[in-house]
Amino acid sequence: MQSDTSSSPEPYSGDGNRFPGGRPAATTLIHIWPASALGEEDTDLTAYLASAWRKLHATSRRPPRCPRCHSGGATNNGADYKGLPQFVCDQCHRRFNRLSGTPMARLRPDEGTLHAFFGLASQHMSVAEASRRLGINAETVVRWSVQSRLWLLELDPSGSWERHVHLAVHYAVIPEDQQGNAPSGGLGCRCSPVRSASAANDMPALLRVCPLCEQGRHPSQLSTG
Ligand SMILES: [Zn+2]
Ligand SMILES: [Zn+2]
Repeated sequence: MQSDTSSSPEPYSGDGNRFPGGRPAATTLIHIWPASALGEEDTDLTAYLASAWRKLHATSRRPPRCPRCHSGGATNNGADYKGLPQFVCDQCHRRFNRLSGTPMARLRPDEGTLHAFFGLASQHMSVAEASRRLGINAETVVRWSVQSRLWLLELDPSGSWERHVHLAVHYAVIPEDQQGNAPSGGLGCRCSPVRSASAANDMPALLRVCPLCEQGRHPSQLSTG
């Protein structure tokens, strides 16, 4: 997707005077979910995440591509402190394992807790509730959600698996005058307008905020303060 920031509108400029009649502020970020869906786990997503996580921890000594220079040539370099096979790139000499360079690399999760998180990722549940169930703080729930969604976009660039995640996903209100031209957060942005399926006509048009923008790069995240 091309993005020409010089000519695109400034959807979330923080211009508080644009809707003096009390339209929701463009910076409003909300969680939405159908009331009936609470606690429904999408077991396909849970299994997909668990399987992908297992692959990152495979004991095979066959070197994967280097995460830095993408060279296919690497040499076995024993195991790291967790017993995972370690490799050294023949080209750039980076030392890496299969987790290196993935969005999951720095999470350092407790395995059991992470698998419990995978089971909650598809659920329409508040961050506070997930935090309570997992025994981790809310910031960690949000971070794991963002990193998992970035990871899902790498595994499946079509974005269809990423859209199975609901936990800690935010929606930004699209101002009325920009509904035909949903704002983009720039290169790599996967924010997508939500087509209202229900008869909620009084509901404002919403943009599902992508994980890149959750990391703070979307204009909607930058316009306040
Ligand atoms: Zn390399
Ligand atoms: Zn985005």
